[in-house]
Amino acid sequence: MINYSIDADGIATVEFDYPGKAQNILNAASMEAYAEAMRKALADPTVKGIVVASAKKDFIAGGDLADLGAVTDAAAFHRHISDWNKLLRAIELGGKPVAAALNGSALGGGMELALACHHRVAADKPAARFGFPEVTLGLLPGAGGTQRVPRLVGMQAAAPLLMEGKRIKAAEAQKIGLIHAVVPAGEERQATRNWVLETIASGRKPLQPWDAKGFKIPGGGPGTPAGMQMLMVANAMLRAKTFDKYPAPRHILSCMYEGLATDLDTGLAIEVRYFTNLVMSPVSKNMIRSLFFGMQEANKLASRPSAVAQQKYLRIGMLGAGMMGAGIAISAAMAGIDVVLLDTTAKAAERGKDYARKQWARRVQQGRMTQQAMDALLARIHPTADYADLKGCELVIEAVFEKREIKADVTTKAEAVIGANAIFASNTSTLPITGLAEASVRPTNFIGLHFFSPAEKMPLVEIIVGKATGEATLARAMDFVRAIGKTPIVVNDSRGFYTSRVFGTYLSEGMALLEEGVSPALIDKAGLIAGMPLGPLALADEISLELVHKIAQQTRADLGAAYVERAADRVAARMAADLGRLGRKSGGGFYDYPGEGPKRLWQGLAAQFPVKAQQPTVEEIIERLILVQSVEAARCLEEKVLRAPIDADVGAILGWGYPSFRGGPIGWLHTLGLAQAVAALDRLAAQHGSRFAVPQILRDMLAREKRFYA
Ligand code: NAD
Repeated sequence: MINYSIDADGIATVEFDYPGKAQNILNAASMEAYAEAMRKALADPTVKGIVVASAKKDFIAGGDLADLGAVTDAAAFHRHISDWNKLLRAIELGGKPVAAALNGSALGGGMELALACHHRVAADKPAARFGFPEVTLGLLPGAGGTQRVPRLVGMQAAAPLLMEGKRIKAAEAQKIGLIHAVVPAGEERQATRNWVLETIASGRKPLQPWDAKGFKIPGGGPGTPAGMQMLMVANAMLRAKTFDKYPAPRHILSCMYEGLATDLDTGLAIEVRYFTNLVMSPVSKNMIRSLFFGMQEANKLASRPSAVAQQKYLRIGMLGAGMMGAGIAISAAMAGIDVVLLDTTAKAAERGKDYARKQWARRVQQGRMTQQAMDALLARIHPTADYADLKGCELVIEAVFEKREIKADVTTKAEAVIGANAIFASNTSTLPITGLAEASVRPTNFIGLHFFSPAEKMPLVEIIVGKATGEATLARAMDFVRAIGKTPIVVNDSRGFYTSRVFGTYLSEGMALLEEGVSPALIDKAGLIAGMPLGPLALADEISLELVHKIAQQTRADLGAAYVERAADRVAARMAADLGRLGRKSGGGFYDYPGEGPKRLWQGLAAQFPVKAQQPTVEEIIERLILVQSVEAARCLEEKVLRAPIDADVGAILGWGYPSFRGGPIGWLHTLGLAQAVAALDRLAAQHGSRFAVPQILRDMLAREKRFYA
């Protein structure tokens, strides 16, 4: 774990080298070994100074999330971190100069260890990042991060690092004072060694700024007017943005406010309590499970059929150069893939390319891309109206109008040109893949690739396996999703698949509340407080009430007698068909969108949906908006539309901005506990109808004391 050596000058090198791992991480085992080596060096009278280093390509990647996610004993954890803090204080106060050679990224606990050294030198590597990502997983930097960073760089500069998890490059870290020097890569160890030798020669006692007499926090502590103002503004902004649903940034602010008002040792004692509180909270467990392990599995393609050779992509075809087609073309071109962008006319295809041009031109303007890089990207997009140009494409994706006949037509035309082994994918948002595959002469090579809007930005792709879709097609489609840097979830065919189906329940529940006479302002505010990116009515306006209405009509036509009408169908029909209020795109839906200024609820809404005198509480509305999604996700599991619970959670967070503190629609059932979740659903079903009816899978799991997650 630790390579320990002492040279002729009495400089000990403590080199971290986690066995069998690509990265150094901090967990119980490595921290114990580290502490032992460090204490040995501090105690050894022949050791005059210490260099802290790494044998990997990066310094330290941070804490072991598997360990943190599994903590169940708060007292033991508190002791463990307090002991580590004692070691870091021993380094600072041991009287020997200690310097860290940051040969690559130093993140989280790794950066905190470096901050306890008297001097930090970073290698100038473009990929190296420094910072504290803990907050993004519901945690805080709990080994002194919230105390040492603001004492070093001031509260203002510390806030984005600690509260947003912003990672910075070496040059910026040096500029704000987080590290002392940046040297060409490979020279960092020598540079730290030189500093240690100079310090020994000077006879100066190495001391951290906060241990020196008369220390003042740069820019002022919480007791100063500037510090107080900074904390008040940060607190207000945090609440406005998150409605206080994420305890980590709040605890980080508390650590700064309480900890910086005192000395470092007391500050560390305060911090470790807040840290323990977060580690024990369901929020961090949810975020670690979904955002870290769930996404890691998805991105590693854990569920990819393994017997199929990996496919590389050089050239794909994109049918339809509209909003989605152009967006997908951007993602593919940026991944180095040539795109044949086809539309009904050459002019329409050019319009799609223009969309890409505008996006990239903006980047060039902002200095985030060179003109040369932009030209190279543009050269990869080949607009056309001629199907013959699709020749040689390994994959063709259609994103033409959402009409079965048009989709069938383009499928036939493309398949006549592309190779026998090429994949044909549909980006339909609602039409079952198995039905669309009927137009294909090789349905085993037919699959759904459901992108989200805007496709060039949204990270998720829902891969839909039709009845006839082959395993090889699935594996190769997954390779494509990864090749363009997106995260896939794999689902089986169903109306609305997984994402549209569950997301749709949120919109519909909002409209059900409206029909019942609940104030629209209250409904949408409750959606925001629940953690959703927008209230359900505002969101329906965004994706267009016309679309909601059209999907309902199509579903009714397809299902016939089996069709169950929902509130959204009635409300969207009234708004879009009767009143011509189609949503944001057409100037107004539930809201009006004046050219300037924020949107305003439509004045005429109250006449259509009168508001009752008696209103439900915010909590009652939130429960409905959230549980309606959970129960539908559970049905998707029961019907095997979903293959694993984690897909529900990753898909919801990445697909429609479901709040990560709940873990996901299934993660939320897990958080509540199945007994409580089932009781709540039974109550809601009795009050509001069968959309809340408990699926058998939940009753069975409850009876057998099973859980979705450990
Ligand atoms: P759009 O109207 O912006 O673009 C459709 C494009 O297809 C147009 O440029 C049109 O000229 C072209 N087109 C129509 N018929 C064609 C044909 N026969 N041959 C070639 N091109 C043809 O629509 P969009 O929003 O990009 O949606 C496209 C598809 O993606 C639809 O199936 C839609 O359901 C699906 N989708 C949309 C979203 C979304 O949020 N907009 C999200 C996921 C999936």
